[in-house]
Amino acid sequence: MVTCAYCEKPLVCDKCRADYTPPSEEVYQALSQPDVLLACPECGAVLICHWCKTPYDGSVQDAADATEAPQA
Ligand SMILES: [Zn+2]
Ligand SMILES: [Zn+2]
Repeated sequence: MVTCAYCEKPLVCDKCRADYTPPSEEVYQALSQPDVLLACPECGAVLICHWCKTPYDGSVQDAADATEAPQA
């Protein structure tokens, strides 16, 4: 069981409601990196958190723009 990086609830695919299980340690580490695309291993869709509806599609949502973004 892993938790959503955004809402910290158990990460569940919004598409098929499967508990998300990272297929490898690399993918598990990528969960904390919002610029990495994750796909659901069950249905193959881009993983979207069932609870907060945040897509793990590699695009950073503006809700996270307070974190380290040293762009002028
Ligand atoms: Zn979430
Ligand atoms: Zn799924």
